[in-house]
Amino acid sequence: RVASTRQYSQVSSLPPTYEKLHAKYSEVRRVLGPQRLTLAEKILYSHLDNVEESLLTNTNNGRDIRGNANLKLKPDRVNMQDASAQMALLQFMSCNLPQTAIPASIHCDHLIVGSRGADDDLAAGIQTNHEVFDFLESAAKKYGLDFWAPGAGIIHQTVLENYALPGLMMLGTDSHSPNAGGLSTITIGVGGADAVEALVGAPWELKAPKVLGVRLTGKLNDWVSPKDLILHLAGRLTVRGGTGYIVEYSGPGVETLSATGMATVCNMGAEIGATTSIFPYTEASARYLKATRREQAAKNAAALESFPGAGAAADAYFKFKADEGAQYDELIEIDLSKLEPHINGPFTPDLSTPLSQFKATVQDQKWPEKLSAGLIGSCTNSSYEDMTRVESIVRAAEKAGLKPKADFYVTPGSEQIRATLERDGTLESFTKAGGIVLSNACGPCIGQWKRQDGVEKGTLNAILTSYNRNFRGRNDGNPETMNFLASPEIVTAMAYAGSTTFNPVTDSLTTPDGKEFRFPAPNGLEGPQTPYEIGKEVFKVASQPPNPNVEVAISPSSERLALLEPFDSFPESDLSGLRVLVKITGKCTTDTISAAGPWLKYKGHLANISANTLFTAVNAETGEVNAAYDLDGSKHTIPDLAKQWKERNQPWLVVAEHNYGEGSAREHAALQPRYLGARIIVCKSFARIHETNLKKQGVVPLTFVNEKDYDLIGAGDEVETVGLYEMLKNGGVGEVKLRVTKKDGNGDVKEIPVKHQVSKDQAGFILAGSALNLLSKSASV
Ligand code: SF4
Repeated sequence: RVASTRQYSQVSSLPPTYEKLHAKYSEVRRVLGPQRLTLAEKILYSHLDNVEESLLTNTNNGRDIRGNANLKLKPDRVNMQDASAQMALLQFMSCNLPQTAIPASIHCDHLIVGSRGADDDLAAGIQTNHEVFDFLESAAKKYGLDFWAPGAGIIHQTVLENYALPGLMMLGTDSHSPNAGGLSTITIGVGGADAVEALVGAPWELKAPKVLGVRLTGKLNDWVSPKDLILHLAGRLTVRGGTGYIVEYSGPGVETLSATGMATVCNMGAEIGATTSIFPYTEASARYLKATRREQAAKNAAALESFPGAGAAADAYFKFKADEGAQYDELIEIDLSKLEPHINGPFTPDLSTPLSQFKATVQDQKWPEKLSAGLIGSCTNSSYEDMTRVESIVRAAEKAGLKPKADFYVTPGSEQIRATLERDGTLESFTKAGGIVLSNACGPCIGQWKRQDGVEKGTLNAILTSYNRNFRGRNDGNPETMNFLASPEIVTAMAYAGSTTFNPVTDSLTTPDGKEFRFPAPNGLEGPQTPYEIGKEVFKVASQPPNPNVEVAISPSSERLALLEPFDSFPESDLSGLRVLVKITGKCTTDTISAAGPWLKYKGHLANISANTLFTAVNAETGEVNAAYDLDGSKHTIPDLAKQWKERNQPWLVVAEHNYGEGSAREHAALQPRYLGARIIVCKSFARIHETNLKKQGVVPLTFVNEKDYDLIGAGDEVETVGLYEMLKNGGVGEVKLRVTKKDGNGDVKEIPVKHQVSKDQAGFILAGSALNLLSKSASV
């Protein structure tokens, strides 16, 4: 302890963030001794609130941390996109604090529809959503947050350019937040309630992830890009392969990648379900920091790496890479020189086909051979390197007199990259070729694409994008649009052919004068020759100190925004008089519980969005979708009956089958049932993140000890808990049963044993009514 204190006082030459990191890291070393650590562990553990308690409890004295320890973390900052920021800020406002405990930023990117081009689309988007943007801007002013206006850029690109720094830990209210791992920053995608924990300065809890190592050797070939690395990996690991893991890259192949290329790979770690992904800090990372005018940050990183630490000799310095001999829970080796371009899809990012086999697959599967659109850019793939590689093939095609046969759209990830590409003539190459440059926003990547090509909803067609996700309907809301993922250069070359069976590496096109044209291998620049342009003044970040005099803009008559009322606390007794609202059969995802699409616009209005609650769930007793029956036998939609019961003060529960709440971290799927009066969800099993979200909102998730007891309980039955209050008071320890009085059973009573996974902290949330209730109490003390 003395050693670490002395070291701490010596680090005055480091900037404050690194002083803190260094001091914590020294403590980690003191607690764990000479144990070899991965890079992810170094950064994560150096953000612990209480290093010793977190690393030594339930961990076999620090030897089995991963998968066992409950890490209580203090992130450095929070980044929020406009759709999820609404609920995060509404929750933060309920805490009545004058400012956030750590820096945070808001990025207006999800609500802009892509259609005709940047200027028209942006003006229309601002008009439609001005109420939400005004709210976000006024909240940013009041609490001192950075505000990136609509058109300034997509959250992950803006964060990479401005906030990501090696060794930092951030939370982002978006699943692709791990993008910043390309610059050795641990960034984890979370829901609004988690973000609020960090914003009020409370520790944020995470079960210590396992670490999946990916060792890279070799160097990518001409037509192959970092996107192909992650497309290939998604095919190997599937959409669930990374669950519970941080993916950490290492090996000599890492040194051959650009910082933005590494970010692309980390971005799509979300597609394999990873907690986050991270690369070591390399010379390319330092070059990117300099190009984005953060030369001092590169110097600081070098200073930290050469600053002596307090641990054993081998660990005396904080290095932005894993310790020699660090063990991974699993290790995959990939030779980059053996990779070929991949195309993933349709409808799932893990259906991966090497380009050389794609034509045969398209023909075998009878997928459309006509390609109707190619879309490049987005937060995943709009780097200078991506775009100049595309430009090289666009210019070659232009010279040969060719134009894209499919519609061709370009989405710059930020104003900075857009302005730089404009300055350097790249955007002009695209527009000359007939490409449409959309605004610096999510647009077609999140269903906000108003197609101009006459492809009607329900028409089977194929599109190719360089985005990251390709669930049904993801881009244009048409479930019949087959959406394939590839690198920007493959998307572009295939857009010229207008065909899904064209292989730009081996096939030729015919020019207007009848000559054979073969695309040259793409050739781009890692970054611009001179630093990135800042871009238009109107898109510059608004940073300001908190101003308590600012009124947060919410109209009482608003249909899109409403202040939150605190949920009621748990009674000082077991629950009684609950009724089963509906018994559900089959899959019940977060989409089933709280649909997206047109409902996105109500994300800041809990009462209005609750009108979609469970409205695609299947009633187990009647087989109907979205049908529930009141005690008098009258039929209603599920949200309607829930609303009526809320008005009658009739608390309720839902009965369901396996993996309830699978899909995403969408917190509305927990908030809405809670708002409408749910106290318990009982099912055969839960999706892990949703189970945690329920507890944070004060709903008790229970699972059947005997799965067949699902048959013993039905809609309308009256339920009382036995032992639940005791278990909560004891910090999550104790047995719980449900005493069920059958609705039609002439007083027939059954006792059903149930299990729970309630920790001490979570018991506190439930007793207080929600995590927010507890946080606001402690924050106001
Ligand atoms: Fe999410 Fe797509 Fe926007 Fe990226 S561009 S933040 S993946 S919606």
